[in-house]
Amino acid sequence: MKKILLISVCLILVITTGCNKKEIKSEINEDKHIAINYPITGINSLDDAISAYVNKTCNNFKKKYKNYNKPELNISYTYKELNNNIINVSLNTEINADKKINKIKTFTYDKKTKKFLSMEDIVQDLDVLDYNIKKELLEKYKEADMDFLSNISYDYFTIDDENLTIYIGPAILKDSSSELIYLDIPLDTLDMLIDIDKAKNSDNYLHIKKRNIDYDDKVVALTFDDGPSKYTNEILDILKKNDACGTFFVVGNKVDFYDKTLIKMVKNGNEIGNHSYSHKWLNRLSPDEFKNEIDKTQNEVKRITGFTPKLFRPTYGGYTDRLKSYTDLIFVLWDVDSSDWKVKRKDKIIKNVIPNVKDGSIILFHDNHEYAALAIKSVIDELYSEGYKFVTVSELLEIKELREKE
Ligand code: ZN
Repeated sequence: MKKILLISVCLILVITTGCNKKEIKSEINEDKHIAINYPITGINSLDDAISAYVNKTCNNFKKKYKNYNKPELNISYTYKELNNNIINVSLNTEINADKKINKIKTFTYDKKTKKFLSMEDIVQDLDVLDYNIKKELLEKYKEADMDFLSNISYDYFTIDDENLTIYIGPAILKDSSSELIYLDIPLDTLDMLIDIDKAKNSDNYLHIKKRNIDYDDKVVALTFDDGPSKYTNEILDILKKNDACGTFFVVGNKVDFYDKTLIKMVKNGNEIGNHSYSHKWLNRLSPDEFKNEIDKTQNEVKRITGFTPKLFRPTYGGYTDRLKSYTDLIFVLWDVDSSDWKVKRKDKIIKNVIPNVKDGSIILFHDNHEYAALAIKSVIDELYSEGYKFVTVSELLEIKELREKE
């Protein structure tokens, strides 16, 4: 019997420190092409403002587009702690129905004064800036409907380590698509009224244990989509306790919030795959948008864990050969669907899984809600009793390849 050593790595790991992030609220409806992800900060007035906006957007979408063919709603976010007190959150709404509509809403909140901040609170001499901003916008968006220039209110802005980004719009571009108009202004060209702390990083080392698998063992891969979330940790604990492993297809815009969870995934011998950055319906994306959705997640996972994912799971399980040609990542679907997010009950989840598993199966769960954690221990116990070993998807693919060579 041949043994294959599947994991034996030592790598440098970068851990981000010094944040007080709470959790990401994640609602993904795999049937209806709705994906909503936004942060819950633990600050009541900020959280109330964010959830009021999300609810309003969601209700309007359901009302307005109910007679359309497969309308898509995608709400994603950016989150940035500018310093110990000030948080900037943006909610990016994309609606795809007869045409694409892009909207943004931003919030900047000061924990110390308990107030929402405007641009006037952030940069000096906004009046002087205004002229230059308009000039640059005209230059950048020659093809846009120019009405947007009279609408500049400076209500919507985000700040990262390098730029202050001002959003205006949406505005109608020549091809009649409705896009966000924005301008990046380098921070070092501005007189800021607040201090901005750059991200602090520290180095660490991560050692990963070895796993021995006989390639003629019966094997199965547990996979988890749409996380990480506050429920992922419990799943990781159950996997570890039962000497099992999983492959987590993460949504890139959440991983910074759950950096410790990601590190734990890798440490415990699980695999991380890419499930896009903001869970948009991929078939509607241009090649550049698609590549961007993949690359941003690759970079985030690498930054946090030191690993670059090799696997990609398409959102809503849908893709074309055209999309496949734009990336070297291996596309991974599933043959057993727990439908955990839909059936919501342990007994039903087990019933969806156990009778359908065969040697080499890939089982689909979701770790953005509590239901997978309810059933996973029983699923593992049952599969062990049927003689299965648990492997990651990359290990499974490697085993299948070795078997084909026999
Ligand atoms: Zn998904």
